[in-house]
Amino acid sequence: MGAKEGFIQFKRETPVSRDPQERVGDYKEIYEPFSDEKLNHQAARCMDCGIPFCHNGCPLGNVIPEFNDAVYEKDWAQAISILKSTNNFPEFTGRICPAPCEASCVLGINKDPVAIELIEKSIAEKAYELGLIQANPPKKRTNKHVAVIGSGPAGLAAADQLNQVGHEVTVFEKDAKPGGLLRYGIPDFKLEKWVIDRRIDLMKQEGVIFSCGTEVGFNIKAENILRNFDAVVLSTGAAQPRALNIRGSDLKGVHFAMDFLGKQNQVVGGEIEENPISAKGKHVIVIGGGDTGSDCIGTSNRHGAASITQLELLPKPPKQRTVLNPWPEWPMTLKTSSSHEEGAERVFSILTKEFIGNEAGEVTGLKLVDLEWMEKDGRMNFEEVEGTERIVPCDLAFIAIGYTGPAQNGLLEAFGVESMENTLPKSKNYQSTNPKVFLSGDMRRGQSLVVWAISEGREAAVKVDEFLMGASSLPQKDESFFQVEESLEGTE
Ligand SMILES: Cc1cc2nc3c(=O)[nH]c(=O)nc-3n(C[C@H](O)[C@H](O)[C@H](O)COP(=O)(O)OP(=O)(O)OC[C@H]3O[C@@H](n4cnc5c(N)ncnc54)[C@H](O)[C@@H]3O)c2cc1C
Ligand code: SF4
Repeated sequence: MGAKEGFIQFKRETPVSRDPQERVGDYKEIYEPFSDEKLNHQAARCMDCGIPFCHNGCPLGNVIPEFNDAVYEKDWAQAISILKSTNNFPEFTGRICPAPCEASCVLGINKDPVAIELIEKSIAEKAYELGLIQANPPKKRTNKHVAVIGSGPAGLAAADQLNQVGHEVTVFEKDAKPGGLLRYGIPDFKLEKWVIDRRIDLMKQEGVIFSCGTEVGFNIKAENILRNFDAVVLSTGAAQPRALNIRGSDLKGVHFAMDFLGKQNQVVGGEIEENPISAKGKHVIVIGGGDTGSDCIGTSNRHGAASITQLELLPKPPKQRTVLNPWPEWPMTLKTSSSHEEGAERVFSILTKEFIGNEAGEVTGLKLVDLEWMEKDGRMNFEEVEGTERIVPCDLAFIAIGYTGPAQNGLLEAFGVESMENTLPKSKNYQSTNPKVFLSGDMRRGQSLVVWAISEGREAAVKVDEFLMGASSLPQKDESFFQVEESLEGTE
């Protein structure tokens, strides 16, 4: 370790974000540049602990103290070499990961944790700038053909790993461009799309074939894929939105969040002229207190909404960890996103009972009621608070209450993949009930995070390689990691 007392000498510092009033005028990333000197100080704060809990906090098992030290020593070649040994796409996670690693950083016990995510993004960007990330096609080909269906982070990671060991990989993607929710879902102000294009260009140079605008099961049949490829990786995401089955949910002006967000990515990307859903001058209500809801807030503010309110069923979380939620668990504390900073009212412990409409079938209001939460028989239950039922004005409502699992469109059945009662496909070691078909990402584990999707893609690739070749030289997390994974549930 380079700096002995960096954690005493330097305070945590991360890039300043642009003024909220200014940044709602565009869709560019919100952070100002950060100097090399300041970054060096941040890397110096790492204590190189005997047991670095951050390793297990990161779903990829990123080797964090080692790359922090390389950054402190300004050895960028070493830093990127360590980082890419566990993470195919640090330029994505360095921007949009909620950083469970930081929640388990030992410094976080009584100080601010090391700025790991920032260091990760900086390593990736510096490595591109210095030409340390170059196309590196495999020296030998195996003549085995793999179809990867879906080009989100899981599919991309699986394709990258399998290509590196010499398999001929074709990625089929139904959308016009690759990236999955990275491209059509996550707003441009969190992740500008040139970051994805840069990586896709590299993967193409390394030999991965992308067939975009191809919906498997529609443009090309599953049986053709099964006949023409030696193995298949399904990584089609968890696209089935959770519905809010209450009166009025079919009114005009009530939408699933993704219908709004995906279209906005297309507008910013120049694929379409305007978003068919406009929040301009509207009273917007976002139902769901999570990240997708927060993305609807940021996008609605950029449209020029008259007001934005976000509703959450659960009680307002505490500002600090409670005794029941100690370090290094994921902190169940109040999170204020950059979109919240740009302006929105947040209401907790509230239930939406009905959408109210006018004669033209348009939403005009929401019937709401306050809730009181209490513990009963070891479980949290709620009761409506008498006399609090009211109707609030609303002319645009977004439902952002999560996803139930893979799209129910017959694709899994067409590949001979059986599902469980909860609609997630059955899998053992990433292999489905059809031995030739492997599963990864949100479609296997349910709605999750980009970092988990990359991890799933990497692990599924090992199993595909073993299936094709009898053994695999690809890196793999050991069993003990997956035991830790169970204790980290709730970070998603
Ligand atoms: C609005 C929003 C914001 C989010 N923000 C964050 C964030 O800030 N940080 C974070 O870590 N996570 C975030 N997430 C979660 C994260 O995006 C997902 O966990 C991750 O993208 C899952 O990756 P995946 O590869 O499994 O699936 P996806 O990214 O969903 O990709 C699946 C791909 O499969 C394609 N596909 C589906 N069916 C077919 C077919 N039949 N033929 C061909 N292609 C098909 C789809 O078009 C899609 O491109 C967010 C999610 C949403 C919805
Ligand atoms: S991928 Fe996420 S959890 Fe892992 S080191 Fe980077 S920011 Fe932390």
